[in-house]
Amino acid sequence: MRRLAKPPSRAGTAHPNATPEVPTLIAPNALLGCFAFLFGALVGSFLNVCIFRMPKSESVVFPPSHCTRCDYQIRWYDNVPILSYALLRGKCRRCGEPISLQYPLVEFINGALTLALFLKCGLGLSFAILFVLCSALVVVTFIDLEHQIIPDSITLPGIAIGFALSFCIPGFGWLNSLIGVAAGGGSLLLIAYGYHALTKKDGMGGGDIKLLAMLGAFFGWKAILFIIFAASLVGSVIGVGVMMAQKKDSGLAIPFGPFLASAAVIYIFFGPRIIFWYLHMGR
Ligand SMILES: [Zn+2]
Repeated sequence: MRRLAKPPSRAGTAHPNATPEVPTLIAPNALLGCFAFLFGALVGSFLNVCIFRMPKSESVVFPPSHCTRCDYQIRWYDNVPILSYALLRGKCRRCGEPISLQYPLVEFINGALTLALFLKCGLGLSFAILFVLCSALVVVTFIDLEHQIIPDSITLPGIAIGFALSFCIPGFGWLNSLIGVAAGGGSLLLIAYGYHALTKKDGMGGGDIKLLAMLGAFFGWKAILFIIFAASLVGSVIGVGVMMAQKKDSGLAIPFGPFLASAAVIYIFFGPRIIFWYLHMGR
């Protein structure tokens, strides 16, 4: 038990740019880890509502969740993350209308991310910041996949919040955040112009630019280099895979937002370690 009382030395350093002064209130343990997963999955239920309603500019709080075919209002016992979907076998309780697999998927992804964040940082400021950010990235990913848009209502407040938080994180610095916004927005803007000049097609949307600016606000300018590189790498591997599956270059637009979001998550968990490894390669 004495081992639990002493938090692991890495706890509290979770914000990739943070120094150990970021306070960790509670160190990770197994029971709290289960709660973290459940909490993340419950929030995932709400994220599903955001994913379905935000592109239609509907309220995310009213009316309560209901079946899209028969209007049956989802009861609380049919709204338990992941479990309810399995018990209902993916169908509405009243009319049997199939429920999208996206519901349990989003709940599971958000639960797993929350658990991973908790194991990485314990409970504290870093966890709170990264939890909200990751939840926003889940919403961005699924909306972009389906609608090829990234809502300004997430990225624009996100830029402001990321910049404001830079004042609260010791050793991070508002200037780092501000340059991150400029580097994130500016670099993709350049790529978008370049791509358009070369191909006369729009490859990159304004949403991607604002998303990367938001990530710059949260992580600073160095992270932008990593995120662009990682997103392009993952994007080209998957892009080539999709093209080969379709056996032709259909010019099918694959949204870039999900790759930026995935790269940001990779950065949160492994970024500083990968950068260190890269810089010291061959030594
Ligand atoms: Zn129904």
